[in-house]
Amino acid sequence: MKKNKKLLIAGNWKMNGLRKNSLMISNLMKYIKNKKFKNTDILICPPFTIANIFSTLSKKSNLMIGAQNCSDKVSGAFTGDISPEMLKDIDLEMVILGHSERREYHNETSEIVKLKAINALKNKLNVIICVGESLSQKKSGKTLRVIGDQLKKSLPDKISSNNLIVAYEPIWAIGSGLIPNNEDIYKVHEFITKKLVEKYGAKGKRIKILYGGSVNKKNAGEILSIDYVNGALVGGASLKYKDFKSILDFCN
Ligand code: PEP
Repeated sequence: MKKNKKLLIAGNWKMNGLRKNSLMISNLMKYIKNKKFKNTDILICPPFTIANIFSTLSKKSNLMIGAQNCSDKVSGAFTGDISPEMLKDIDLEMVILGHSERREYHNETSEIVKLKAINALKNKLNVIICVGESLSQKKSGKTLRVIGDQLKKSLPDKISSNNLIVAYEPIWAIGSGLIPNNEDIYKVHEFITKKLVEKYGAKGKRIKILYGGSVNKKNAGEILSIDYVNGALVGGASLKYKDFKSILDFCN
């Protein structure tokens, strides 16, 4: 698949995965090495408990390992939190921020997401910021307004051209098997591109925008071919080697 930007296929393992799943990482690394992906970056974001093992395992490979969250604080008395410096210390390269599950279950506002993003970027971690509307917001025609507001409040002011990625993840599509139609995905991605250019100028044009929400081996090829879609954030289908590999098979 030839696109104007290098694709990023990112797996979000959420609260799944044990040390024994290192086998999948070894298989994935072998597959990536054999396929010699030129136009695709590949990332797995496991839970913190196995991130160090995975990052050590994948050190000299083209598989990137990332995290699913980080603190907006530098260090100190914040029980249970993990700082960007700690993620960098185990050689993680990216962090997903503002996932709808964090926004919903941990009351993360866009303002908090922005502080986390600033903190992560300071520590040279690349950041994937998630935005997306709920089903009722979609039904009442508020999708672009909601996403515009999330972008306005969540995006850090200073970036370099390749350290920020945006993921469009309609909340109603996550884990549901439902996906927006191609036209709707196109419209939202085009809108996000416009907002990024308004905020960052030429740099904004180079920011990748991923689609996320029920991406699987059956729909990935079609979704990835939509204009302004520069990759996918994959939840459930990233947990099984065969399913994730089938998605990667659409890339090169
Ligand atoms: C996600 O939660 O980031 C996600 C895209 O999940 P799923 O692919 O399972 O819908």
